[in-house]
Amino acid sequence: MVSTTPLKTTKSQEIFNAAQSLMPGGVNSPVRAFKSVGGQPIVFDRVKGAYAWDVDNNRYVDYIGTWGPAICGHAHPEVLSALAAALEKGTSFGAPCALENVLAEMVIDAVPSIEMVRFVNSGTEACMAVLRLMRAYTGRNKIIKFEGCYHGHADMFLVKAGSGVATLGLPDSPGVPKSTTADTLTAPYNNLEAVKALFKQHPGEISGVILEPVVGNSGFIIPDGGFLEGLREITQENGALLVFDEVMTGFRISYGGAQAKFNVTPDLTTLGKIIGGGLPVGAYGGRKEIMEMVAPAGPMYQAGTLSGNPLAMTAGIKTLEILQRSGTYEQLEAITHKLITGLLAVAKETGHAACGGNLSAMFGLFFTEGPVNSYDDAKQSDLEKFSRFHRGMLEQGVYLAPSQFEAGFMSLAHTEEDIEFTLTAARKVMSEL
Ligand SMILES: *Cc1c(COP(=O)(O)O)cnc(C)c1O
Repeated sequence: MVSTTPLKTTKSQEIFNAAQSLMPGGVNSPVRAFKSVGGQPIVFDRVKGAYAWDVDNNRYVDYIGTWGPAICGHAHPEVLSALAAALEKGTSFGAPCALENVLAEMVIDAVPSIEMVRFVNSGTEACMAVLRLMRAYTGRNKIIKFEGCYHGHADMFLVKAGSGVATLGLPDSPGVPKSTTADTLTAPYNNLEAVKALFKQHPGEISGVILEPVVGNSGFIIPDGGFLEGLREITQENGALLVFDEVMTGFRISYGGAQAKFNVTPDLTTLGKIIGGGLPVGAYGGRKEIMEMVAPAGPMYQAGTLSGNPLAMTAGIKTLEILQRSGTYEQLEAITHKLITGLLAVAKETGHAACGGNLSAMFGLFFTEGPVNSYDDAKQSDLEKFSRFHRGMLEQGVYLAPSQFEAGFMSLAHTEEDIEFTLTAARKVMSEL
């Protein structure tokens, strides 16, 4: 049953108030702060399966899943026991370990573009390194990125960067020198003509194009038919590289990521989130001939004290093993589809303009007629309504991303009852919006 009493969040408030004098904004990553939806964030105590419990012992059905990694469900027993066993052997070696080979082979087998891989500690680090590699390989400095796509917080990517940057309305960030972003060209998502024009304006200067092959950082946006194929052609014609940032979509859109789903093979790929199974991991990989430029095989320097550490590798390996089991992606697709079609039906029933959809275990809902094909379209969403919807759902025990400019994430632990619970909550909240 849906409760009608307001959430009791006394302890969350106490802890968050204290946090604000200890850490900027009280958080260690901006979108956690609920700035765009208002109200105080909830402080978590523990997570399990599809649920999170806060420090006041309220339970939430969680559709963030620590922003993607928890695709098997939080604190999966098999991941925990593999970690417990690995822990006995130590937490970090700073030397080669066999587990790195195991995860590398799994990634290479799964992701069509990857023949060789380098593990790092976050998606940001992976994107930073891949940019250096794009430049090292082509001998060109410029890159093209798309409005509303997020590639981590490195200087060169903080231009029209979506996610928390969009949420907070920061066009760019102070501290990023103009000279650093001078080589970052931007185009609207799903706009091939804009990309062609940039290549025409800067002949022989563009090292490559980087994008989220399915966008999750300006809400949820699917590439138009022909968009990814078109980028593949344009980059090839211009001697430039195509890079898919699959930090979010890798092992989520399908086991081989968006590139397997859409059958378009980029030159390089970045990964993160799911491949760490909840521990800090990122990766970049691609054609052997390009990857062999990376030190110590080649001259492009990139390093990491904790990169490939046995705990992170263990959580990643076990998570991918679970995902390989038969029927997992069918289950994820079916349940995610059920949720989003349910939410859209409830919106219609209660008289709200809404659009959205899902691809496998990733989904999004916008409060606008739509369609949403670009960041500019996403900005048409009724943000104020989204804020009230978000707060209402939280009160009902459903934890959605605290920003219209973030996608939602389903896990294997979510059940039909969780979906029913969520739709009942949505009906109540939307009818009072
Ligand atoms: C989350 C994300 C990143 C950054 O990864 P972190 O691990 O947060 O540094 C980069 N690109 C995309 C597409 C992401 O979703």
